[in-house]
Amino acid sequence: MSDTGKERTCRACGASFVYPAPASLATKRLCESCAGVSEPVRRVLEAHQLEILRLRRQIEKLGAKPAPGAAPKVGDDA
Ligand SMILES: [Zn+2]
Repeated sequence: MSDTGKERTCRACGASFVYPAPASLATKRLCESCAGVSEPVRRVLEAHQLEILRLRRQIEKLGAKPAPGAAPKVGDDA
């Protein structure tokens, strides 16, 4: 059990990833792609990610459901 990674959420981009994973550059807080980003850029990403989480929580409080991924389809019944 202890040699299997845990599912984590990247602090910078919000992606879920497994840590630790063999041959992965990911850290506890960052997925593999964000771990390679330079620190100033990463800080901006983390700040944005925090803001997204805050807004998402607020939306949930208001009773609306955030779109799961993509924007709603447009033009289906136009
Ligand atoms: Zn990431």
